[in-house]
Amino acid sequence: MAGLGAAIALTKKGHNVTVLESTPQLQPIGGIIVMQANANRILDGLGVYESLLTICAAKPFGPSTRRYKDGEFLIKKLAETHEQEYGYPLWPLHRGDLQQVLYEFAVKRGITLRFDCRVVALDDDSETLTVIIKDGERIEADIVVGADAERPVPGIKSSVRKSIFPDSTCVRDSGMDITRVNIPEAIVRSDPETSILMDQIGLWCGPFTTLAAMPVARGDKWYLGLDCCHQRDETSVEGSSRKQNIEQFKEYFKDYASPIQKLLSYTREAHVWRMMETMPPSWVSRSGRVVLIGDAAHAALPWVGQGGGMALEDAATLAECLQRVVVSEDIPNALQAFQEIRGSRCKLVQEWSAIKGKRATLPDGPEQEQRDKNLRLFNAWVKAKPWDKIHVDELPELESLNWKAWLSGHSAVEFANRKLDERFGTRHYK
Ligand SMILES: Cc1cc2nc3c(=O)[nH]c(=O)nc-3n(C[C@H](O)[C@H](O)[C@H](O)COP(=O)(O)OP(=O)(O)OC[C@H]3O[C@@H](n4cnc5c(N)ncnc54)[C@H](O)[C@@H]3O)c2cc1C
Repeated sequence: MAGLGAAIALTKKGHNVTVLESTPQLQPIGGIIVMQANANRILDGLGVYESLLTICAAKPFGPSTRRYKDGEFLIKKLAETHEQEYGYPLWPLHRGDLQQVLYEFAVKRGITLRFDCRVVALDDDSETLTVIIKDGERIEADIVVGADAERPVPGIKSSVRKSIFPDSTCVRDSGMDITRVNIPEAIVRSDPETSILMDQIGLWCGPFTTLAAMPVARGDKWYLGLDCCHQRDETSVEGSSRKQNIEQFKEYFKDYASPIQKLLSYTREAHVWRMMETMPPSWVSRSGRVVLIGDAAHAALPWVGQGGGMALEDAATLAECLQRVVVSEDIPNALQAFQEIRGSRCKLVQEWSAIKGKRATLPDGPEQEQRDKNLRLFNAWVKAKPWDKIHVDELPELESLNWKAWLSGHSAVEFANRKLDERFGTRHYK
């Protein structure tokens, strides 16, 4: 996501980009990836937004927060509110479809995409920066962008990150897993109790678990995607296949309300991922010619729904930063600027995702009751204090109303250029 996004953004600015992808061909896999207004703003800037509307059957839904036991709505928002407030809609997409759209766009723009090219190491110490591919081929570059997050069963890896920080532990394990399930629309619609779930996004909160139910199109077929977060049971994953043990998985959600029980009874196959954060000591190598972006730099837990959004913001911001490079000696300064512009925002998203997850998974008791009381007041609170649309670039206090505006109303490109003007003046690469 970050790699294709960066390739498109950089090519638009006139750079010569080669994408090295480890898989033998495009593997448009994964589950649902939520695109909020800030992410859709970037996709529009890249020129791929219109294709999304046609290829991905993207459709906005109203998000809600619900209680696991009885399905009570703690928060319920209208589908159109997000777009009215932040300029673009919020919609769940299939990760594979989004990847396909970005890929086709990159091909059309003539970007060199090389599959089956696993990066195994970098030579960042010599005068010439070199990428080393698995078969020993060496490719020289002015800059290397490490958008190479990889999820083997035990964690999140990045070969580029490993090359520049060989001795650092860059990953924090949440101790929880996420299991992903897709149920065809026809099955969900066959029962009135589950059918309504096809018309909304719902985050169900239970003890040590959450279950997000989101309608999503794959091509022209609709599914209900379930992203189910739960504690880890080392025995539940079948080898390295990611296949979840269905009976074990259902146990985590056995006290959820009847519509969820029905959905789980339809589940025949599910895949599980470990939930981890990445936090390397820096995103830029000592030489100042290698930069990490996307999940390789700052993977977050899923509760803020911004993995794809942050990856795309990185891509667009990087292109703006490199636009300020006039001679190659400027590259380290531009990459440092990139880290400074993006660092605090991505860190806050990581922190808030972790806090939100902790609260959403509270066991029943006084803390959970207080949480639910606050959530029930949320809609009235928003109505009473509408967002003034001014402070989107300032870091808000967590939980201030401007938090959401800061997150979804953000324009990464405008913000980057304001910061870059402060640092570089109006100097631009021609
Ligand atoms: C298989 C898969 C399924 C996912 N499913 C979901 C989902 O359902 N919902 C969700 O919200 N998020 C999902 N994600 C994560 C989400 O896509 C990311 O949070 C977000 O898009 C950040 O993008 P990224 O470019 O940093 O990482 P990714 O989108 O993971 O892209 C990294 C790319 O780097 C490639 N790569 C890795 N190592 C090397 C190497 N050594 N050499 C060359 N190429 C390499 C990978 O093959 C991959 O194409 C998934 C990621 C993957 C890989």
